[in-house]
Amino acid sequence: MAARDVIIVGGGVIGCAIAYYLTDAGVQVTILERGEIGGEASGASAGILAPLELSVEQGPLLNLCLAGMQLHPSLADSLREQTDIDVEYLRSGILRVALSDEEADDLHTLVERQRPQGAMQWVDAEALRRLEPRLAAARGGVYSPHLHQVNAHRLTQALAQASVARGATLRQGVAVRGFVTNGSRVSGVRIDDGRMTAGQVILAAGAWTAALGRRLGVALPVKPMRGQMLAFADFSSPLRHILLGEDRGYLAPKVNGFLFVGSTVEDVGFRKNTTAKGLASLRRMAASLVPSLAYAEVASDWAGLRPGSPDDLPILGPVPGWEGLSVASGHFRKGILLAPITGRLMAQWLTQGKSEISLEPFRPDRFAAGGSQNPASRPKDEAL
Ligand SMILES: Cc1cc2nc3c(=O)[nH]c(=O)nc-3n(C[C@H](O)[C@H](O)[C@H](O)COP(=O)(O)OP(=O)(O)OC[C@H]3O[C@@H](n4cnc5c(N)ncnc54)[C@H](O)[C@@H]3O)c2cc1C
Repeated sequence: MAARDVIIVGGGVIGCAIAYYLTDAGVQVTILERGEIGGEASGASAGILAPLELSVEQGPLLNLCLAGMQLHPSLADSLREQTDIDVEYLRSGILRVALSDEEADDLHTLVERQRPQGAMQWVDAEALRRLEPRLAAARGGVYSPHLHQVNAHRLTQALAQASVARGATLRQGVAVRGFVTNGSRVSGVRIDDGRMTAGQVILAAGAWTAALGRRLGVALPVKPMRGQMLAFADFSSPLRHILLGEDRGYLAPKVNGFLFVGSTVEDVGFRKNTTAKGLASLRRMAASLVPSLAYAEVASDWAGLRPGSPDDLPILGPVPGWEGLSVASGHFRKGILLAPITGRLMAQWLTQGKSEISLEPFRPDRFAAGGSQNPASRPKDEAL
């Protein structure tokens, strides 16, 4: 395989991470981003690195998440050296709080189930108050030191900047409209002012990946899943941990003192707006965990479109039916956590034909039989 020159479509965290590892391997990379680097889901993200989030089952995704988690600390150091950008890696740890007896029972069961991994421990109400004095009266909770966070926007910028420093070409404001093909081979992309060719094209276009696949008649069923968030300007006595609330809502205290509250998970096509209802639900969840937040000032709110996949697994590897074309998308709620491992594995696979963790469970051809080309199944408001 040994790709020498590669076009990456999409300058989110996934495209930039692939560029970072490919340029490290000496590959000539061009990133084409129709907007700005990190301007979509990656810049909207909370940046939580959660390999042992409560609902992730044993299996290939958990293995990928754990491997991904291990790469982040040293990557943060390397990026600071290479770019002067601090990605604000923070070993926050997480508290999942039980506000009712029923929730406390559920969490006890969870701790039991996780006992072999030793990842979580039960914390009683008093200890909980010592850890986070501003918490609502709780029955207790679960503590895990293994959840950390970064500034997702900075991580994306740093990966892009480091790639450029190693020779990558970055073109922002350039949309890929279609492909240059030769038989069953993709040999480049069409852009507004012409075409560009390369030995390999990688689709890393986040929630817009399916539309690109359809240009070639391939089912890459990535679907936009809206997430709304808000940030409190809550500088008085900042929280020390990430707090997890009902419906997988969370409060993430950031290095700059802002408190991120997220996030909704909504299947509303490509509508990237916030809504009064969505933001109110976030405020309610935040105040149920930390009552004083009912009066806190909202500094900003925003929304982004996560790239979801039908089985919640990322889609990584060769696009079926087309030589010279591969995909890295569908990272849903874990794209920041998984960006470095995705970049590393995709680069290994493209330069050596194999990767240290098999891409087999994530291959796009798992959708080949069931993939729908039916225009009626397309999300609303989709455009390349
Ligand atoms: C509110 C919210 C909170 C989140 N929180 C977390 C979290 O705490 N932890 C975590 O790990 N993950 C989180 N995520 C998920 C994570 O942000 C995503 O999985 C990740 O950013 C996906 O990265 P990406 O590069 O695939 O997509 P994107 O960042 O969307 O990048 C894709 C890029 O492709 C470009 N593009 C699309 N079409 C074209 C085209 N035709 N030509 C050129 N460019 C094109 C787009 O402009 C875009 O910049 C969150 C997401 C949201 C929305």
